Amino acid sequence: MALCEAIGLTRRFGGNAALQDVTLGFEPATIVALIGPNGSGKTTLFNLLAGLLRPSAGTVRWRGREITAWPPHRRCRAGINRTFQVAQPFLDLTLSENVALGLLYGAPAEGARRRRDALERAQEVLGEFGLAAKAASAARILSLGELKRLELAMAVATRPALLLVDEVLAGQSPTAAQEILGHLIRLRAQGVAICLVEHRLQALLLVADRVVALHQGRVIAEGRPEAVIKSPAVLEAYLGEPGA
Ligand code: ADP
Ligand code: MG
Repeated sequence: MALCEAIGLTRRFGGNAALQDVTLGFEPATIVALIGPNGSGKTTLFNLLAGLLRPSAGTVRWRGREITAWPPHRRCRAGINRTFQVAQPFLDLTLSENVALGLLYGAPAEGARRRRDALERAQEVLGEFGLAAKAASAARILSLGELKRLELAMAVATRPALLLVDEVLAGQSPTAAQEILGHLIRLRAQGVAICLVEHRLQALLLVADRVVALHQGRVIAEGRPEAVIKSPAVLEAYLGEPGA
């Protein structure tokens, strides 16, 4: 049984199906890269898995249990967390406070959950994402790339068993991108299931165990990275995209 399963997920907006009959499983210690042209449904799938949207049809299962109706905070405590394509930390809180929120409200941990401990531990987490020097600054001052790293730090702080990462490499320097990928690889080694929306094929080939390609809301290819990015259906989906 997969850790998390999407079964026949469909989501319509008005008359348009953003996602159509998508069935996928996520296994522990595995990085799945989700690719597809703009508008193919990647973020919608994340929203359905994290509970920000309800499906028009289909179900979400977590450790074998149906959770389709669970709200996001309940899924977060159960171990599902995500970053956003457009990072959404609390801009007036400090970086430490933002990460401490993740530590306090994520999956239950052994040890104290007191605010002061969380702020101390937040420093360590920020260090892992190259943000220690700005721990006491308000999130508002960060660059786009830093905001995305902060959001990843917040998501990691919730101790997810399934981490959904939406285009976090966008806006990162090559060094920061390497560090992020290194961090994802370490999380995988700890058993975390990761689903990564990523356009940089180079990065994807480095870390992904499996690639799932979406086009117009449907899965058009799935399997080993080298095979999927060369598959005729995927090439056609990308070439057929205006302006791609
Ligand atoms: P991707 O992340 O792959 O670029 P999205 O999941 O954001 O794609 O969008 C898939 C499709 O659903 C697009 O056609 C988009 O316009 C539409 N869509 C997404 N969210 C909404 C929404 N809240 N309301 C209406 N249409 C939406
Ligand atoms: Mg998106």
